[in-house]
Amino acid sequence: MSSLSRRHFFSAAAGLAAAASTPRIVFAQASTAAPTAPTGPFVVPPLPYPTNAFEPHIDARTMEIHHDKHHGAYVANLNNLAKTNPQQLGARAVEDVLGNLNALSDDIKFAVRNNLGGHANHTMFWEIMGPNGGKPEGEVLAAIDRDLGGMEKFQTDFDAAGGRQFGSGWVFVTVTKDGKLAIETRPNQDTPIMDGKRVLMGNDVWEHAYYLNYQNRRADYLKAWWNTVNWNKVAERYAAAKAGTLGV
Ligand code: MN
Repeated sequence: MSSLSRRHFFSAAAGLAAAASTPRIVFAQASTAAPTAPTGPFVVPPLPYPTNAFEPHIDARTMEIHHDKHHGAYVANLNNLAKTNPQQLGARAVEDVLGNLNALSDDIKFAVRNNLGGHANHTMFWEIMGPNGGKPEGEVLAAIDRDLGGMEKFQTDFDAAGGRQFGSGWVFVTVTKDGKLAIETRPNQDTPIMDGKRVLMGNDVWEHAYYLNYQNRRADYLKAWWNTVNWNKVAERYAAAKAGTLGV
């Protein structure tokens, strides 16, 4: 073989090797393009209403992304964590784990705080929303009048607290076993459950909850959100709180 043809041979061989490796790379990308969410003890609860149920107050696309992608990601992360930490995650009630974050090992504490907090918050959120949700009455209305100054003041104060929450977070109404209500905010995916409290209801003020429709107008979203509250579910949660059976 002449030096010319040897060079040609080697460069042709290198080209073949490169060509052979290209399809493998493409194949690897294609096979991981749509990963299946890991299954495990945590599940995203299906929405009990269609994603367009709250148009025009909350658009269907926002509901889809929020429920399937955002909540879905928290649950996928939790199932990954549960695989390697089955004793710490998945075996106990969500509210028990959240109420004792310091009992978790340091390597997973922060991830559990964010992802289990997110799972609890969103599970509550989907539950207390619904079309034709009625209005507050009975014991819930009496508690709102007694502890929060009546419906009008409650809604004004709740929206103001949600508006003041800097960056991402939530505005909640907490409920004691005696049925006493209070408005509280938390950053990120924190929840009053982490302080041993219980949540009656709450609104998500992360931008992902409203940005497609409302952009920077969080106040407009907060106001419109009241049209989506299912007061029958809120009443069920109030009764459960007083009975000591309210979880997340
Ligand atoms: Mn959210």
